[in-house]
Amino acid sequence: MKYRLLPALLVLATAIGGCSQTTVSNNNQETLKVLIIDGQNNHTIWPKSTIMMKTYLEQTNLFSVDIYRTKNLWRSNKYINEFPLNDGKTYTDLPQPKTDETFAPNFSQYDVVVSNFGWKAAPWPETTKASFEQYMKSGGGLVLVHAADNSFPKWDEFNKMIGLGGWGGRNESNGPYVYYDNDGNLIRDNKKGHGGAHGPKHEFKITTRAPQHPIMEGLPAKWLHTTDELYAYLRGPAENLTVLATAHDQKNKFRHEPMLMTIEYHKGRVFHSTLGHDQAAYESVGFITTFLRGTEWAATGKVTQDVPNVFPTETTTKVIKFD
Ligand SMILES: [Zn+2]
Repeated sequence: MKYRLLPALLVLATAIGGCSQTTVSNNNQETLKVLIIDGQNNHTIWPKSTIMMKTYLEQTNLFSVDIYRTKNLWRSNKYINEFPLNDGKTYTDLPQPKTDETFAPNFSQYDVVVSNFGWKAAPWPETTKASFEQYMKSGGGLVLVHAADNSFPKWDEFNKMIGLGGWGGRNESNGPYVYYDNDGNLIRDNKKGHGGAHGPKHEFKITTRAPQHPIMEGLPAKWLHTTDELYAYLRGPAENLTVLATAHDQKNKFRHEPMLMTIEYHKGRVFHSTLGHDQAAYESVGFITTFLRGTEWAATGKVTQDVPNVFPTETTTKVIKFD
């Protein structure tokens, strides 16, 4: 059965106010169970970004979403008071993130886990790391959004799951830089250097590299993404990695950086999107569409959602405001 994204997005544009969520029941089939994990993210769009992703997912009627949040919250500051965390506290600047020893989601209850952790997120307890590795090895799904690939630089199995990552001391010991050159060759470059860079936010063109992949099927060969950070110089094990789409790094005219990726980790499937710095990026139809399709693929290995008619073109971005 095909599901149309467009009506859901139009509903989004008119029905959403702040944190309110519309959960639409679907009597025709069981929804895919999604767990969004978060609680420590340097980005000021969090925790609103978690609500945006939950809303987008549930508007499709394909997914039901739970959120599991670490108790030791950390973020720069702003939205944490605008979008209360229901713990009765008022936050300003928070101390360095600390490990929540009680953080123990029951991953096995879910078809896919979406990480909205970010840069500096504290390590999980060892038992939770082992439980997540087992979940993924036995066929779980993982979706990473933007700074989720900054997290946990010392966790080797996590680095294998994400394929490429940035910051947190990542360097040549983590694996190669991976990018396309101007001739369309996929380069794995083992030279020394730290992982992770981005310039000022700007609109940039995204080029599809794997048009037959279920996540990309039906998307334009090139489309314009709204203002966002263009992640570059990511590096990691890059094992069983498929680059779905790239964008051109402005500083280095020879590099086309991975923007969307999949990774096969044992029996598990990973969708990795580097997009999503702030609210503008989260409102991009290109971000939303690839996130929804990537989440379904990570959960099932298939994509049943149509590409919306309002998708961006090579020269025009498309956004849907989320108030
Ligand atoms: Zn960012």
